[in-house]
Amino acid sequence: MIRPRHRTTVQQYPGHRARADAERAAHHQSYVSGSLVLNQSYEPLCVVSVKRAVVLLLTGKAEAVATGEGVFHSESLRLPAPSVVRLKRYVRIPRQLSSSPSRRGVFLRDDWTCVYCAGTAETIDHVIPRSRGGTHTWDNVVAACADCNQRKGSRMLQEIGWHLPRRPKPPAHWQLRGFRTGRRPHPTWEPWLPRFSES
Ligand SMILES: [Zn+2]
Repeated sequence: MIRPRHRTTVQQYPGHRARADAERAAHHQSYVSGSLVLNQSYEPLCVVSVKRAVVLLLTGKAEAVATGEGVFHSESLRLPAPSVVRLKRYVRIPRQLSSSPSRRGVFLRDDWTCVYCAGTAETIDHVIPRSRGGTHTWDNVVAACADCNQRKGSRMLQEIGWHLPRRPKPPAHWQLRGFRTGRRPHPTWEPWLPRFSES
């Protein structure tokens, strides 16, 4: 079971209070984010619970690459919560990405964020409208909020002076696994994610 490092002494020693609060906040963050699992090649594979990552470490299937600020507790165990672990054996992942993007896949890739205004996205927009020959492919679909989608209508971006922050492309494998609405990668994951999100 995972719980914050509780200090019954915090009340008696107020000087420690700020630190305890910081630890609790940090613990909460790592708990929400889970642990990033890297392949032996350091390619991000998926996100698992901290508990699952600890099991991977204890069974010798993975090594710790980075730790979060929380602490993992069990009856007989106490160790820094792993935030990034790397598998010791290479796992071959068959690419099964459909050329026809699913709604969920687009939201996962774009993190439920409107590409035009960075608000919360609830709709899928075809950058080149379907009525003007746009295809339903990864390079032509983006997550958009209802407002932007409606304002854009069936016009081309250059007609209304809008720009895409990045060229839409098929998502990296890790983007489709383990990330849920509202989740943000833990800061310790960042060295591992951009390398592959750009590929
Ligand atoms: Zn928008």
